[in-house]
Amino acid sequence: MDLTLDTPLTDFPGVGPARAAKLEKLGLTRVRDLMTYFPRDYEDRRKIWSIRSAPLGVKVCVQAMAAEHPRLSRIRKGMELVKVKAVDHAGALHITFFNQSYVERAIKAGEEYVFWGIVEEQGSRRTMVNPIFERTDRQAVTGCILPIYPLTAGISNHLLCSLTRPAVEACAAQMPESLPRSVRLDHELAQTEFSFRNIHFPDSPESLDLARRRLTFEELFYLSAGLSMLKHRRGDAAGRVVPSRPLEEFLALLPFPPTQAQRRVMEEVAADLSSGRSMNRLVQGDVGSGKTVVAAWGAYLAAKAGMQTALMAPTEVLAQQHARSLSALLEPAGVRVGLLTGSFTPAQKKRLRQAIAQGEVDLVVGTHALISQDVEFHNLGLTVADEQHRFGVAQRSALAAKGQAPHVLVMSATPIPRTLALIIYGDLDVSVIDQLPPGRTPVETYVVHEDKRQRMYNFVRKLVGEGRQAYIICPAVEDRAAQEGAEGEPVPFADLKAVKSYAQHLQDEVFPDLRLALLHGKMRPKEKDAVMAAFAAGDVDVLVSTTVVEVGVDVPNAALIIVENAERFGLSQLHQLRGRVGRGKHQSYCVLITNSHAPDAMTRLKTLASTTDGFKISEEDLKLRGPGDFFGSRQHGLPQLALADLSGDMRLLQQAQQSARQLLQQDPTLSQPENRPVLDRVRQMFADTPDIFN
Ligand code: ADP
Ligand code: MG
Repeated sequence: MDLTLDTPLTDFPGVGPARAAKLEKLGLTRVRDLMTYFPRDYEDRRKIWSIRSAPLGVKVCVQAMAAEHPRLSRIRKGMELVKVKAVDHAGALHITFFNQSYVERAIKAGEEYVFWGIVEEQGSRRTMVNPIFERTDRQAVTGCILPIYPLTAGISNHLLCSLTRPAVEACAAQMPESLPRSVRLDHELAQTEFSFRNIHFPDSPESLDLARRRLTFEELFYLSAGLSMLKHRRGDAAGRVVPSRPLEEFLALLPFPPTQAQRRVMEEVAADLSSGRSMNRLVQGDVGSGKTVVAAWGAYLAAKAGMQTALMAPTEVLAQQHARSLSALLEPAGVRVGLLTGSFTPAQKKRLRQAIAQGEVDLVVGTHALISQDVEFHNLGLTVADEQHRFGVAQRSALAAKGQAPHVLVMSATPIPRTLALIIYGDLDVSVIDQLPPGRTPVETYVVHEDKRQRMYNFVRKLVGEGRQAYIICPAVEDRAAQEGAEGEPVPFADLKAVKSYAQHLQDEVFPDLRLALLHGKMRPKEKDAVMAAFAAGDVDVLVSTTVVEVGVDVPNAALIIVENAERFGLSQLHQLRGRVGRGKHQSYCVLITNSHAPDAMTRLKTLASTTDGFKISEEDLKLRGPGDFFGSRQHGLPQLALADLSGDMRLLQQAQQSARQLLQQDPTLSQPENRPVLDRVRQMFADTPDIFN
């Protein structure tokens, strides 16, 4: 069979329509697809052991001769057993195959084989069960480093290897070299053909490293190039001029003087807005650093220039809080603030939509509802996305599309590790608020076990006695029984503090004299708003809540947050939760309760107790959990990366980014013929992210 990159997989022996359909599920229809279907792991099967020297309990290759004809027996209905003894110069290996009667004919007495399996010892006997075996003169999957591919039901690794091996052998040389020669030389990257051969079937670990380095670099290079092009294009986009005004005029509205960092970032924003070019700025600042003020300043400038601002928050609770505090701040200056969330009645929405369309609202605060099709702005000049890492690239652009090239401000608490920030915000300018408002003392953090529960309740009572408020956070909403009923599946964590029954228990048995309230995501938005407002007003002492308060919620008088089943949360999430306290002038505390004594859970939680640096915590989190988890299911809206590991390939990423930038400096639109292959690859990579290239 003459293979080319375009050969359909149905041309391979053994691939009928059923298999082809399963392969297609993996994205595999042609040889080309196989080439970029990278192994997720490798098994080093190069070393061949003798029977005596083979280590026990791990998979190994053992070379031995079949000493007899295999014996087939049926032990019970439907269960067939083949036994065969194999020997080498110094030992014997007793091999058993279950339900593989073909082995009786496949193994011939007197022939040499390599057996791949786990050697075990039963008394003085060495044994192996169900090994893979090959004649020593026909080794294909032993004596080499074998790729382990991501699989799906009905597609075995063996089948995939039987496809990739001939495909790679025939077609690695046909893979086009798209990296510019100079880039390849500068960074000492292996050639395409070598890389594709060795990423699938490495000669040695060293060759595999070279191959992986090249292909990873390439992936990061095209990613960086795409994002830089985007930034470049945006940079050129003519922006609406929002004339600047004296900062002092706005500061007079604030109840506090801004920090140096806030002042600097506000000036950066004002400069962007008045520059005549579209602003695309990320404001990064740890929880509590005071990002909201920056957004308010932007909205203020826009309103004074007769333009509208849309502020999108990731949760209903946060949108409501912003609407409350921003209208308190800005209404006195004549800025009209409106709130739009999914939970309004159709009539309410209609009224607000009309007001927005007619320009009767200057600042619209809302949730995703803002992106909905029927929201039209009169004159949208600025969009703000708060807690931006919760939104994808696509949502950010959808909001921007509501206006004529509006200015874009995104705000994020720091738990975005530097690596990811480089990638995700490669298309944005970055401002950092690297200073907390004065008078904040760091939150004291403790990790405790059940035995301290009573002491902790006493502590709650003591703080409330001093006039403070507390959060108690639980991971689950429903009771275990209720969940089982609803989902039909057992809940894996038997002792999760379910927020409803726990709140009831606390009110009835523990704090009958305190004012408790319950907050969770399944409540109606009106109820949520009422509870948050009561807590903010100091009418509630203890708020028992799920993580709906995780992002952004701001009640400065709250000085204690207790997190139940803390081991269930990611570090960044815990850091965010902790950020709910320490927002005022009172010494604040965070107590992480766990039932777990597992060393890694304790290590994780202690990381949190030992530092308040959001960057450090997020990097740790990324290391532990990987970027996928970090953002939920691809929420960042970036192309999927096949090889690059964003938590580990930092150096390579920087190199790739730098060289992409260099190339784009010479040829910003990649329109020179020699850069055509690069452009093609960038387009291909961003094919699923249409908002980037049209
Ligand atoms: P985040 O950056 O987490 O969004 P916020 O904007 O919610 O932070 O601000 C946190 C709290 O700090 C709010 O109560 C806010 O009013 C207050 N704050 C912001 N800036 C200052 C400042 N310069 N001085 C004192 N308090 C401030
Ligand atoms: Mg905030």
